[in-house]
Parts: sequence; C-alpha cells; structure tokens
Amino acid sequence: MMAGGRNALLSAAVAAALGWTGELSAQTGPEGGPSEPARIIFEGATVIDGTGAGARAGLAIVVEGDQISAIAPAGELGPEAHEGAEILDASAWFAIPGLVEAHTHVATSANRARAEFLLNRQLYGGVTTARDMAGDVRSLMDLQRASLVQEIPAPDLHFAALMAGPRFFTDPRTVSSAAGETPGEVSWMQAVTKDTDVVEAVTLARGTWAAGIKTYAAIDGELLAAIAAEAGRQGIPVWSHTHVGPARALEVAGAGVRSMSHVCSIGSAAIPDDVFREGQEGKRTGFVDVDLDDPAVDAVFALMKRNRTVLDATIRVVVQIGQRRMAEIDRVNAPRPPGAAPGPSRRPGPPRGPPIDRRRRGVRPRCETADAVALTRRAYEAGVMVATGTDGMTPPDSAFPALHEEIRLFHDDVGMPMLDVLRAASFHGAVALGMEDTIGTLEAGKHANIVFLREDPLTGPESLQSLELTVKRGTLYYRRDFVLGEPPPGTGPPRD
Ligand SMILES: [Zn+2]
Repeated sequence: MMAGGRNALLSAAVAAALGWTGELSAQTGPEGGPSEPARIIFEGATVIDGTGAGARAGLAIVVEGDQISAIAPAGELGPEAHEGAEILDASAWFAIPGLVEAHTHVATSANRARAEFLLNRQLYGGVTTARDMAGDVRSLMDLQRASLVQEIPAPDLHFAALMAGPRFFTDPRTVSSAAGETPGEVSWMQAVTKDTDVVEAVTLARGTWAAGIKTYAAIDGELLAAIAAEAGRQGIPVWSHTHVGPARALEVAGAGVRSMSHVCSIGSAAIPDDVFREGQEGKRTGFVDVDLDDPAVDAVFALMKRNRTVLDATIRVVVQIGQRRMAEIDRVNAPRPPGAAPGPSRRPGPPRGPPIDRRRRGVRPRCETADAVALTRRAYEAGVMVATGTDGMTPPDSAFPALHEEIRLFHDDVGMPMLDVLRAASFHGAVALGMEDTIGTLEAGKHANIVFLREDPLTGPESLQSLELTVKRGTLYYRRDFVLGEPPPGTGPPRD
C-alpha cells in the first residue's frame, strides 16, 4: 500500500543528500519524474499551536521538507519565501498540532494487515504519532520503518520493550508477543528480579530500538527505582503502569518514571497496608473498595507534578470494558456461598480460599467510570501533565480512531477546556516519549505534524470530525482520500 500523500520528505532527503538544500523546488524526484515542491505554505490559517496560547488568525505556516520552518502573519513573509513554494489557501481552516495517541497496541500478536488497518485510520484521523505500549517488537520495528519511509500511511510509531516480574509471563498476551520464543527471556519481554543485571537489561531493551521501557507488573519499588535510574543514565524513559504490585502508585511516582498508565490504579496508594499485604501473599485478590479522597492519592499527584511524570489516564478503556471485566473478576473470585454443594468430582480437602487472579497477583482498587473521571480531574487540577491514550480501538466499522473518544471524555466528562485538551492530546504525549523538542506543538524547527479542521477546535471535540487534512512530516493526507477498508480478521476488541 502506498501513502496517498505528497512525497515531500523523500525529495527533501534526496536533495539534502546531494547537497541541494538551497534549491529544493527544482529537483528531480527519486524515480526520475518531477518532484513535488518541497516548500508548502499554508496561508491564512487560524493557528492553535499547542503551547497553551490562544488561537491566532491569518497566519502562514511554512513547511520545508519534513519540518515547519516558520509560522508568521502572511504579510511578514518575504517574497523569497513564496518563490518555488506550493501555496495552499488555509484561510477557512484551523490548524492544531498532530495528535499523539499515548497508549495503543497494534501488534500484541503480529498481524500486519490488522496493524495497517488501525494505523491508517489513526493517521487519517489526525494522529501523527503513536506510542505502542508493548507488543511483538519484531513486528513493530517493521511497521515503524514502513511508516517512516512511507510504504504505509501510518503515524510515526514508537514502541516499548517490556519488563515485569517472572510470574507475569504466563499472561497469554506475552506469549503472543514473543511467539516462537519464550516470553520473559527475549529482549523485548524481559523477566526481571532483584538478581537481574539492570545495566544489561536496560541495554538489551534499548537494543530492540524501543523508545521506552514499559514496566508492567510484579516489580517492587527498589527494583523499579534501579531500572529507572539506569534507564535515565542510558537515556531511555521508563513508562510504568501506575501500579506494578508490589510497587504501588506512590512508589512508582517516586521512582522517577517518565509516564504512568491507567488513572484507576492511582487508587492503589489508598489500599490499607494490611489488605494490600494479604493480596501480595496470595491470601486475597480482586477489587477492593478504597477511599479515593485519601491524602495518599494527592501525594501521588504531587510527586508526579514535581517529577514531570505524564499520566496517560486511559479513561476510555474503563468506560468500554472495565465494568464488564470487573464483574467477571468479581464473579471468578467470589467465595462459594456457604452450604453450596461441592462439585461432583471434587475430593474433600482443606477449605479453599477464593481463586487467585493469576495475571496480576493481589488486590486492585475498585474503579468505575465516575472514579476514573474524578481522578483524572484531580490530576489535572493538581498540575499533572495528563495525556490522551486509549489502550484500545473503536469498532472496525468506525471511521474515526479511539483517540477522538478519549479527547471527548477529557472535555465533556473531566471538564477540561479544549485548549488544555489539545495540549494533553499532543504536547503531553510528546513529553512522555521524550520528544517534546521535535513534536507536540506547532513551532518553527519542529516536525511538520499538523491537523487542519474546518470547525473551530476550541468549541468542542466534535470539531475533530471536520478534519480536512493531516500533515505528517510534511506529507499531506487529505481526509477525502481516506478509505477505511475491509477490517482484516483479528480486528477485535481492545486489550490493555
Ligand atoms: Zn495497554
């Protein structure tokens, strides 16, 4: 599948390689034909640049190759800026930074057709960068390459190498993501313990070309802090689950990780110590009611703010599947009613406790949609950088990606003004990736990742449906050219 956009990136790269950067517009394309102009000027746009500044009307955005070279009132660009440039009238349009999907999974098991289907819908829905939060890195590397060289229409894809305690690697998703090998024993899915050589483990993770290390489960605070310190030394961020029991939210926030996933588990900080300990000892499992007003929750947010830790709240996944799954785990863990007849083949034996949820040992805070919303609001009000990540996908016949739904939840339910929602949906994702110097806002010198809308985005999230054009690294993807396509087999419900 070929990208539907203009080939500005390639021609710029070829020109640069040949030392022709001063006269880009007259070059010959890589296949001998004339190339598209490498300089594009979007004239007259109303710009919301994602820095937190308000809308500014009547601006020209100058794109050279894959970068923004200037944003200025149209009259301030000299005639030389226009020479050889392609001029596009954007006077009826609003420009916002390309969206960052801060939590997705496109290759839990390698399925190229499915991944391309999802990435295509993300890109044409305004997502120019996606952070994949663990999957089969062998597949993710190839998707990343294919996106970068424009073999496929897709956001720039960055991915995680996962670390967790050994007992996590019975999870069937880890088996899928390491298919053919042993999960826990491969560089992108490493089992870690207190005896792990952390320097080597971080080095191996970096060797997968991962942009971050995801810490998932069954890690204690001391080990997490050691991983984060070494990762910091080697220049790769740690992206942690909010709760990687035994380490809970407060320890995770104190460990120096770059981002924390899933707002619900912030409540782990408020689980009474004795209850939590029983969970870790395998004596109880499932969800427990916690007091979310516990000051420990505010202490987590204060630490996150101080450490500039990004929270990808993933509210949407709570709405979509949380309650169903919570009910199922409750059902599995419910003690049998007194006097219930034992199963026909069960031998008499010692009394049995509730079955253990082996995927993540221990107890978790009960968290309904309203709790997730309230916690996200408190994080936002406490000054934590909240980011939009979905941890899932819309149904296969949906024309827009799940990120639009998370954006709607941030605005309609959390109550954030659109100016801040847009910052959450771009800049904060960039910070989580450690890429805030190159993406996340519309500023000269950054990648030309731009979304153009007909409707004013500050009026509400519905405006995203008026999307006209996504620009990724200077390449243009018009919404009118979007083809959803037939969903390939396996394009099913989300996971976490
Ligand atoms: Zn996830």
